[in-house]
Amino acid sequence: MTAALEVRNLTKRFRGVVALDGVSFEVRSHEVVGLIGENGAGKSTLLKVLSGIYQPDEGEIYRNGERVAFRSSQESARAGIGMVHQEQSLITNVTVGENILLGAEGDAVRFGFYNWPRLNANAQRQLDKIASRIPPTAIVESLSFAERQMVELAKALYVEEGAKAEPVIVLDEPTSVLEGAELETLFDQIDRLRKIASVIFVSHRLDEVLRVSDRVYVLKDGRSVGEMRAEEADVETLHRLMVGRESSAQFYREDEQLPVEGKEVVLSVDGLSRRGAFDDVSFEVREGEVLGIAGVLGSGREELSRVLFGAEPFTAGSVRLHGKPVRFGSPVDAVTAGLGYIPAERRIEGIADGMSVEENIFLVDPDTVSWGPFRRVAAARDSAREWIERLRVRTPDERANIGNLSGGNQQKVVLAKWLNSPKLRLLILDHPTRGLDVGAKEDVYAFVREQCARGMAVVLLADSLEETIALSHTILVMRDGRVEDRFDARPGSKPLPVDLVEKMV
Ligand code: ADP
Ligand code: MG
Repeated sequence: MTAALEVRNLTKRFRGVVALDGVSFEVRSHEVVGLIGENGAGKSTLLKVLSGIYQPDEGEIYRNGERVAFRSSQESARAGIGMVHQEQSLITNVTVGENILLGAEGDAVRFGFYNWPRLNANAQRQLDKIASRIPPTAIVESLSFAERQMVELAKALYVEEGAKAEPVIVLDEPTSVLEGAELETLFDQIDRLRKIASVIFVSHRLDEVLRVSDRVYVLKDGRSVGEMRAEEADVETLHRLMVGRESSAQFYREDEQLPVEGKEVVLSVDGLSRRGAFDDVSFEVREGEVLGIAGVLGSGREELSRVLFGAEPFTAGSVRLHGKPVRFGSPVDAVTAGLGYIPAERRIEGIADGMSVEENIFLVDPDTVSWGPFRRVAAARDSAREWIERLRVRTPDERANIGNLSGGNQQKVVLAKWLNSPKLRLLILDHPTRGLDVGAKEDVYAFVREQCARGMAVVLLADSLEETIALSHTILVMRDGRVEDRFDARPGSKPLPVDLVEKMV
């Protein structure tokens, strides 16, 4: 049977990086194919070649057996390939209908004017395909992230109208920010899509891929290193193929956590309050200690971390750093005093897009590499190279634009940025592994361990309870703005997730 879409020996190079190295791949009609791989494996690049955004350096693409070349995303769309990008691409201040038909308004636009009833009817037709109840007249801004994703899906399905062939819908990491019920909705949609299209589903969450896919391809370092039917695959095997090293049963390496008894107290917080957010919070963090804070949304833990970092003022209580009372007026004060903050939303706060990897690493503390008005160019370069090596950042070199790196690699640069500051005594990690794949997570964990061994104190707001429990020495559980309970989480006396959950809700 001819594949709905096939690529043979696809190679794509970017300055110094071989993003795709002779990849062959096919999707059959009404098939859901999973594509997995660590950050930087080449997944997005492959999809961008399929959707005409990048032109391959070598290799061929076949659509229903016919050789094709896409010079633009319009050409790819005309061939019935609909893409839902990793970063959402909707225009937020216009309607759902306009977004769905954007660039393809067809008979809904006449002399530059919208024929609104027709535009909305066209959009409704796409939304009906996925049984979405979002009205075409809704403004995108008013929608939740999950709803926007549904709109993206409906928009991708619009390719069907112009194409002769059944569509191929490509989803790039659609699940990385979805949770619970939203995830289920997406999976239902993929099952629905299977009946009317072929689907390429990219994710680094292996269990999800196995659940929705018929077949799975594993990409590693730009090469296809495995292809198997989902029913014959399991998470362990995929993980091993993807990471290329032995899957560690002890993912978090709890046994390597060092004791902190008797170490010097770095941060002590006493009766800290911020009116309306949290009340009477007290704790201490010692050198080398990880203090995990658990709590549901609204528990006050997010606000607490912001107050600790000087992004918001506190209204009562005290904060002492190495015994000295401090009151940060801004994050700059906090950094000057030796605090570092690594946020989850690295795309927004963490990185300076358009600047090089090296410039990003030295953003916090240019002093370390400046000498009077002259930047010690060679020193900066050597130091940047060292960080790139230590953190295994996949980049052509230290001069590459950080915006071109994959998410996991950007996150590593953000880590290097803070850790490069010699003054750093305390790190606040705010969901440091969100959206990262297993390999990159392991690298972050190793890094936290290394920093602790050097005497860094860490306040951790983790993504999962497992992560909180595994990495922390002590855990505070917050509920309704108060410290509900504290747990000793030293190796050998770790609480269970259910112990924490009982106090959280
Ligand atoms: P994935 O989606 O699997 O995380 P990508 O396809 O985004 O990976 O990236 C593959 C590799 O190609 C990475 O090393 C990335 O840094 C590099 N890369 C991707 N896009 C560009 C680009 N526009 N310029 C330079 N390098 C790039
Ligand atoms: Mg990607």
